[in-house]
This record gives sequence, C-alpha cells and structure tokens, in this order.
Amino acid sequence: MSRKSASARMLLPLVLVCAAGTVFGYTPGTYTSSFPGQNGPVPVTVTFSQDRIESVVVGENKETIGIGQTAVKNLPDRIVAAQSLGVDMVSGATVSSVAIMSAVADCVKQAGGDATKLMKPYKAPQVVKHEKLATDLVVIGGGAAGMIGAINASQQGLNVVLLEKQEFLGGASAICGGIVVAQGSEAQCNMGEKSDTPSKMAYDLLHNGHQRNDLSGLTFYALNVGKSIDWAVKQGVQLDTKAGFAFRAEHKTPRVIPFVGGCPQYAQTLREVLATTKTDVKLTTRATKLITTDGAVTGVEAKAKDGTTYEIAAKAVLLATGGYGWNKEMLFRKSYSKLLDVFSDFFPHFTRVRAAFSKVGCIQLKPLEGQ
Ligand SMILES: Cc1cc2nc3c(=O)[nH]c(=O)nc-3n(C[C@H](O)[C@H](O)[C@H](O)COP(=O)(O)OP(=O)(O)OC[C@H]3O[C@@H](n4cnc5c(N)ncnc54)[C@H](O)[C@@H]3O)c2cc1C
Repeated sequence: MSRKSASARMLLPLVLVCAAGTVFGYTPGTYTSSFPGQNGPVPVTVTFSQDRIESVVVGENKETIGIGQTAVKNLPDRIVAAQSLGVDMVSGATVSSVAIMSAVADCVKQAGGDATKLMKPYKAPQVVKHEKLATDLVVIGGGAAGMIGAINASQQGLNVVLLEKQEFLGGASAICGGIVVAQGSEAQCNMGEKSDTPSKMAYDLLHNGHQRNDLSGLTFYALNVGKSIDWAVKQGVQLDTKAGFAFRAEHKTPRVIPFVGGCPQYAQTLREVLATTKTDVKLTTRATKLITTDGAVTGVEAKAKDGTTYEIAAKAVLLATGGYGWNKEMLFRKSYSKLLDVFSDFFPHFTRVRAAFSKVGCIQLKPLEGQ
C-alpha cells in the first residue's frame, strides 16, 4: 500500500467526524439568539466553522448611544479575536455586554460547543511600550467637563491630549437626568424669562444649601452658567424649548430646562463636536500620576489598557475626573469624613500635589440618605 493511499484512507473518517461537528466543537452554520439589554432585546447572530467562531453580529437594538453602543461595536470583534467569552466586558455598559455575551453563549450551545469552557478569563496580550509626548494641555477625564474643556481649548488652537479610562467618552453626562440650569442664557431670555439674575440663582442655591455653599464656587457658577449654555447651544447642543422649563423645588424662577434627547444626546453631541477637533483622545487610558517640577504640575503619567505607558509633558493639566456616582458602596457610606479618600480614583494625586478643597463634607449625595 502506498503511503499516499494509506494517508488518504486515514483522512476519510476524520473528515466525516469533523462534518458532524464533534472534533473541533462546533457544527458549522449560523445561529441566532437574543437577550434583554438595557433598553430592550439585543439580537445576536453568530457564524461558526468547525473550529472557530467566525463572526458575531449584533442586530437592531436600542442600547444607549455612546455606552451600550460601545459594547455593541467593540465586543463582537473582541470575542472573535480571542475566540473566548472570557474577554473584558465594556465597563459602564455591563447590561448590554452581558446581553451580547449571553446570546453568543447560547449560540455556542446551539452549535454543539461548550460555552463554559469559553468563559475562562481571557487576558489580552500586553505590549511593552513607553511613549513620551509633549502638548499644550492634558485633560484628564472625558465626561462633559473634560470634553467641553478639550473642545474649547482645541478650538482656540491649543494641542490637547484627552485621557479617558473608560472605553467611551461621556462619564455621568451619558446617563444623567437631562435637565440643566440655564440662568442668564439667550434661550431663557428668548423663552420670555427675563427677570432672572445671578443673585436670584445664588439666593435659591444658598437657601437650598442651608447657607453652607462655597460662595466663590457658587458665584462663579451663577455668573457663568448662562454663557456656558449659550456656548453649548452654539456647538449644537439642543435645549427642549417645546417642553419648556422643568419644575425644580430648589429654583423659584423658571431656569431649568431639558436637553432634546436627554443626556445621551447631549453627550453624543459633545462627542461629535470633539471629533471635529484635533484633540488626541486616548480611551482606556488611565492617568496614574501628576508630574511636578518645583511644585508646579508639568505633566501627567498614564497607562493604557494594552500596557502602553505615557509620560506627557504639558503646559497645563485640566483635572476633570468627576465623582463616584456609580459606586454604591461609596454612596451609602455614612462616614462623610471618608469622602476625601473616595472622590475619584485620581483623588490621591490631588492631595499629593497639595490641591485645596472646600466644603467636601457638604456635598449632596444621591440617593440621599434616608431615600
Ligand atoms: C444619575 C445621575 C443623574 C444626574 N442628573 C443630572 C441632571 O439632570 N442635571 C444636571 O445638571 N446634572 C445631573 N447629574 C450630574 C451631572 O451628570 C454631573 O455633575 C456631570 O455629568 C459631571 O461631569 P464631569 O465631567 O465633571 O464628571 P464625570 O461625568 O464623572 O466624568 C469624569 C470622567 O473622568 C474619567 N476618569 C476618572 N478618573 C480617571 C483617570 N484616573 N484617568 C482617566 N480618566 C478618568 C471617568 O471615567 C469619567 O468619564 C446627574 C448625575 C447622575 C449620576
């Protein structure tokens, strides 16, 4: 018997077994499944060859723009590249991520594969790369404050690097209630409310804050909020003038108005405007340290999720790392004296460079105690 015909004969049973889908794990074909996401069903179609997940496609869904949609965009490729369901979910978009993962797992099961084996945690390969950059401004945090700061600086001709630890821009603004104080704005005036003033607003907020507000911060807010709203409207942010002013117990004058499309649309507009600027946006990149020279902040160190480390020299650094609204443990802590420790993960660096704080213990916590 020639060697060729012997191996040909041996190949035959192997091919037959593969076709039945038992050797490599999958019965080739295309399978569908759907699991509930944040805003409704998330349908998923998965195509398998004998030994691979060839493609994952998420169908029409209503997941939140900018957050859930980040999972819809990023997770399929991540699963296919790793051939694993143990890949990182999109932090902040857990419900959408779980819906996609669950649907893929169901398709694996339908195809005769072992989904539990695929769940083994997958660690993406890390790179060993160190980059040194120099820029005019580093913005730390890509929430509304950081995006607005970056847009503004970039539109004025500065070179800007924006660091955001999450996979998406938006922070709390991507999920917030969607109404905004518009005292002193053109929109408020155009809607017939001309009697409002910064001092009326300051009075209302002082009353609401039991006279314990930080006066310099409050004054700055009351004097500038109208101009800020006008700026945002010029950038394309839309106020819902049809809905008009929303009632808020703490404001005696009509000055609070919803965004068209709520906060998700507000955040999306800022993302789109930011994308028109030359800002160097680095997602999944966490600022880890402020660099100081003779007591002045002169740059930032950061680390990306893929392992790349950055040392960025900057003429100015804007800290826009926000709060801790998603952290239930911190929200429910009774001991406000601990607040200084829990502000944001970047907080320890504020203290290290001796930043000054005021009235930290008076911060309103949501949900409020007792609610
Ligand atoms: C549920 C909810 C409802 C709300 N409703 C309203 C409302 O109706 N009207 C209103 O005016 N306000 C509302 N707010 C408040 C408002 O959303 C926030 O005050 C505002 O969005 C804060 O924006 P920010 O950019 O300062 O901070 P954040 O949105 O917290 O953004 C900070 C960003 O910094 C990033 N970051 C943190 N640490 C690092 C690091 N080390 N390196 C890199 N990036 C980092 C975070 O990932 C985040 O994206 C609400 C808030 C919540 C939580």
